[in-house]
Amino acid sequence: MGRRKKDPSCVMHTNASKQVLIIGAGIAGIATAIRLRLAGYQVKVIEKNSYPGGKLSSFKNGEFSFDAGPSLFTQPHFIEELFELAKEDINRYFSYQKEPITCTYFYEDGTVIKAYTDKQKLAGELHEKTGEPAEHIYRFLQSADRLYSNIGIFFLEQSLHKLKTLFKKNILAALATARPKFIFKSMNSFHEESFTSSKLVQLFNRYATYNGSNPYKAPAMLSMIPHLEFNIGTFYPKGGMISITNALVALAEKKGVSFLYNQQVDEIIVSNKKVTGALVGGQKIDADIIVSNIDAYFTYKYLLKDDNKAKRILKQERSSSAVIFYWGLNKSFSQLGLHNIFFSNDYKKEFDHLFRSKQVFDDPTIYINITAKPEPGLHAPIDMENWFVMVNAPAHTNQAWHDQLFLYKKNIIQKLNRILGEDIEPHIICENVLTPADIEHKTASYAGSLYGTSSNSKMAAFLRHPNFSSTIKDLFFVGGSVHPGGGIPLCLQSAKITASIIANHE
Ligand SMILES: Cc1cc2nc3c(=O)[nH]c(=O)nc-3n(C[C@H](O)[C@H](O)[C@H](O)COP(=O)(O)OP(=O)(O)OC[C@H]3O[C@@H](n4cnc5c(N)ncnc54)[C@H](O)[C@@H]3O)c2cc1C
Repeated sequence: MGRRKKDPSCVMHTNASKQVLIIGAGIAGIATAIRLRLAGYQVKVIEKNSYPGGKLSSFKNGEFSFDAGPSLFTQPHFIEELFELAKEDINRYFSYQKEPITCTYFYEDGTVIKAYTDKQKLAGELHEKTGEPAEHIYRFLQSADRLYSNIGIFFLEQSLHKLKTLFKKNILAALATARPKFIFKSMNSFHEESFTSSKLVQLFNRYATYNGSNPYKAPAMLSMIPHLEFNIGTFYPKGGMISITNALVALAEKKGVSFLYNQQVDEIIVSNKKVTGALVGGQKIDADIIVSNIDAYFTYKYLLKDDNKAKRILKQERSSSAVIFYWGLNKSFSQLGLHNIFFSNDYKKEFDHLFRSKQVFDDPTIYINITAKPEPGLHAPIDMENWFVMVNAPAHTNQAWHDQLFLYKKNIIQKLNRILGEDIEPHIICENVLTPADIEHKTASYAGSLYGTSSNSKMAAFLRHPNFSSTIKDLFFVGGSVHPGGGIPLCLQSAKITASIIANHE
């Protein structure tokens, strides 16, 4: 006799009596709250800051507004899915547009490459600027598509720590696609085999930084990342990245999730190896289920006081961090687009500085995001621009960041002046700064890592912390420091995996 299916209305009814506490209103915490509320649970989100979103937040400086963290939006279907699930019209909360150019790349020798999302235009541009045959581009993007569709989806969309995953039929198909070169070669070696132009090797190596990794160490498997931009697209949320947070919080509140701000969870209370609640400002809040959306290391170290487990988590290398200058400029720069990269002349040395010597590098790759480009007059006064200027930085290990900022700024300005042929400093009329120490402090992200752990090791996908605790009943994890990793789309997938484990009692 087959197993009887549970009646969904009965399941909703049972869940309704259960109280879920989510620690942290990062993007994964908010998405988990929506999913569990829709499955019938009573859901409370506790956030230490006065605002939601964690890294995905924004701020103003006079007439300029800035997205504080993420600036690149890919895979919008993970957001759409939440509205479909909630049976709400997304257009009433959120809208976005596809961008025709993923990024404009500037090299020190004066070469400027516009990376079009239209593949024919892209191949034409790359051939014209670097001499790379178009077939190489098409072949590379096809390989990225295959890697993502066959392997990526399998590893990213389900828990790797449940036995039933490992017995799924499609694991064999997925593993068969994982040719040894994608596991044993580095991204850089694979790109050197794929392209004749060193400029394109550098351009595609850059995708390692999308999860804070080093292309000279990370496995070639990560060369699936460009698939997301070139085969699917990059998008711009109207109103800036903060609109993602605002839309999801509005949806969560509409469905009955409650958010408590300015409240820090100090301890997760465990009795007989099961969570029973959390201590917030000396008061116990009861909970049947707890989902931690904060860094797994901090969860063990401070909320569970488990030093041994915390130390074990630290065995995995952290992703890189960043130093960010938010500048308001009293001028508009026609050479620039929404996303811009000014490449280092020595990329290998830059990554050695980031991951080995952990020092400031004098020729850093600079990323500039300008939301005044798609929405002139909204984020900066007309004819002025809001620049989010980011350089990768080593993980925070107690460096004196404020003493080093002078060097970071000097190197950035010299490089931009050189390549743009202008003196930009007199045009900067306001400035805010974010260092790796600030990122750690503001979002409780250990070492200021942007994406949790790095993917520099071949086993990284398997070594990330699971979405559940195997020793404490009803304790779960979501967000950038746990499976499947950092970045908005992966955080949204961690919410999906975790909510499914909880709601289906897997
Ligand atoms: C500068 C920067 C640039 C980035 N660029 C991109 C990009 O372009 N595209 C992209 O997809 N991703 C990008 N990322 C990564 C992306 O922002 C993160 O992976 C993602 O936002 C992490 O979300 P999260 O759910 O893990 O929670 P987080 O954003 O880490 O939020 C955790 C929340 O928990 C709260 N909290 C911590 N401790 C407690 C406590 N004890 N009690 C209560 N609350 C607590 C924090 O205040 C915070 O709000 C970037 C990150 C940074 C920092």
